[in-house]
Amino acid sequence: MSSPVIVWLRRDLRLSDQPAIAEAARKGPVIPVYILDDETPRHRAMGGASRWWLHHSLESLGAALQEKGSRLILRRGRSDEVLAKLAEETGAQEVHALHHYEPWWRNAEKAVGKVLTLCLHHGNYLAPPGSVTTGSGGLYKIYTPFWRALRERMPPHDPQRRPQTIAVPSKWPESDTLPDWKLLPTTPDWAGGMRAMWEPGEKGARKRLHAFVEEASAYEGQRNLPGVEGTSMLSPHLHFGEISPAQVWHAVADAGGSVATFLGEIGWRDYAQNVILQYPDYGGRYARDPFGAFPWRTSTRDLEAWQQGRTGYPIVDAGMRQLWHTGWMHNRVRMIAASFLVKHLLIDWRAGEQWFWDTLVDADYGSNAVNWQWTAGSGVDANMFVRIMAPLTQSEKFDAAGYIREWVPELADLSDADIHDPPSGKRPKGYPDRLIEHRDARERALSAWQQAKGS
Ligand code: FAD
Repeated sequence: MSSPVIVWLRRDLRLSDQPAIAEAARKGPVIPVYILDDETPRHRAMGGASRWWLHHSLESLGAALQEKGSRLILRRGRSDEVLAKLAEETGAQEVHALHHYEPWWRNAEKAVGKVLTLCLHHGNYLAPPGSVTTGSGGLYKIYTPFWRALRERMPPHDPQRRPQTIAVPSKWPESDTLPDWKLLPTTPDWAGGMRAMWEPGEKGARKRLHAFVEEASAYEGQRNLPGVEGTSMLSPHLHFGEISPAQVWHAVADAGGSVATFLGEIGWRDYAQNVILQYPDYGGRYARDPFGAFPWRTSTRDLEAWQQGRTGYPIVDAGMRQLWHTGWMHNRVRMIAASFLVKHLLIDWRAGEQWFWDTLVDADYGSNAVNWQWTAGSGVDANMFVRIMAPLTQSEKFDAAGYIREWVPELADLSDADIHDPPSGKRPKGYPDRLIEHRDARERALSAWQQAKGS
């Protein structure tokens, strides 16, 4: 019997269109392993909502492997050390994995490559990050030309089916048990809203995709309306690699209709990886001046009011409460809430990036950093700082009354005319006053910008 092959799983927790598993299955008995690596230095430990998702996703993958007569081995520690030990125990000669672009995963890949034969495959992006180049061979910094060039190379590959059979080793190595990792919250158990909304795992991802495909042609018209389920809600499934972007692309494109805008959004996901490949510390450092000299405020009171959805701006509060309960927030509201933190409260975007990192089920190093830097105006491709979103206008424009009623129930009895901006006489007891008036916030932000530019 040929020696076993290790498949090192990370954010690629699926069996179909998974080239590392497919290639290993062609070579010999397969040992699929997930390593809980809290030791390779990273920008920040995995957040609470992501840990919740990971638990369920691993459970689902373990069950899918069992249906094929295989198993998922769980180990904890530094990836290179764990893999070296596993190879020694099992006689495995090769490790197969998908490329990942977070700086800590690239470091871990280098470390593994020093001690073992590591075969890396592409499969988590529409095109391998780093492969979409300008005429002079450089990498794109701006989304629009990046997308134009990526679009030229589409469609992506045809998705591969899951392997028919996965050969097993003559003896399985030992595995941790999932509950021992304590990824789920206990006291308090804050995950009720997440359980109600999500089904982590490959099966749940496929269900979401099928449901979305039915409605995909309405995406263009509905995607900015937070009160309508008009987007795919595939982001955590894509983040954890329970479905590949090629699978999403083909399913949506085959459905027909006007889906170009949706496909361009999937392109943003590729773009974000293209950015962190060029700027590995993008999650912690402003990409442009004069943000290093920006007079940020430090106000624990304001930061906590934002986190808890108690800013006195209904659209912002609705978004922040949706995030806390479900681990997800509508994209339009993410933009409004993020802009509010940075421009109305003048709090450094990195405090917001950190909160999102901990509370989003789709928390993704590249996408989170790129979108925060875009909103703040500090990114390589960014909205100008001086363009300040007016939350009340946004709330009316995108028809958020129903959304606010759902997430800020104390305002539910207000009329459509009042709910976006409850007049002081009609603010229910217990709902806070605005932390700052929009006009004052705007003036303060513009003067802070002038100060930063002048320093
Ligand atoms: P759809 O509209 O159905 O889009 C399909 C897919 O395209 C998404 O699942 C996602 O993978 C990708 N996508 C869409 N918009 C973007 C975008 N702007 N940037 C990158 N990818 C995109 N998205 C994350 O996946 N992880 C994050 O940590 C994250 N942080 C964000 C922080 C801020 C401040 C903002 C403004 C946006 C952030 N986004 C992030 C992008 C976007 O809000 C979510 O991807 C989207 O809301 C997910 O919902 P959906 O799956 O229904 O999206």
